[in-house]
Amino acid sequence: MNIAEPRQRVWRLTSPKAHELAPPLERAEQAVVIDWAELEARKWPELHMLFAVPNGEKRSQPTAALLKRQGVKPGVPDLLLPIARAGFIGLAIEMKRKPNGPTDLQQAWLDNLFSHGWFAVVCYSAAEAIEVLRKYVSAQPTIIGPARVVRE
Ligand SMILES: [Mg+2]
Repeated sequence: MNIAEPRQRVWRLTSPKAHELAPPLERAEQAVVIDWAELEARKWPELHMLFAVPNGEKRSQPTAALLKRQGVKPGVPDLLLPIARAGFIGLAIEMKRKPNGPTDLQQAWLDNLFSHGWFAVVCYSAAEAIEVLRKYVSAQPTIIGPARVVRE
């Protein structure tokens, strides 16, 4: 019998890394969405414009400060597709793993984007996000009028 084993197990359970099990799963789901988008971009080239907002990663304090100074903000949805479809001007997806829901800050970003014409949703799996993306890109383009310059 290895007497070191139980101690090691306790150490693992109490290690901060144990609390980080959920986020990697969320990242894995997001990676599946990106893989799907890269493949489907042959059919819908607009999917090349899907991009991630890397604001949820753990990082050192100096790097965090540097990124904040450059405009990286907490709560911004994970995936953005700045393509106008179905009456909206863009699609924003916040990826979550149940039982986690969006934080207050993430929900505020979704609400604000929605009020500014974005279709902003929370998706709890890669399959859900892919379904949203598929429906969104295959919807009718939003008719956007030419920008008008008001002169006095
Ligand atoms: Mg997320």
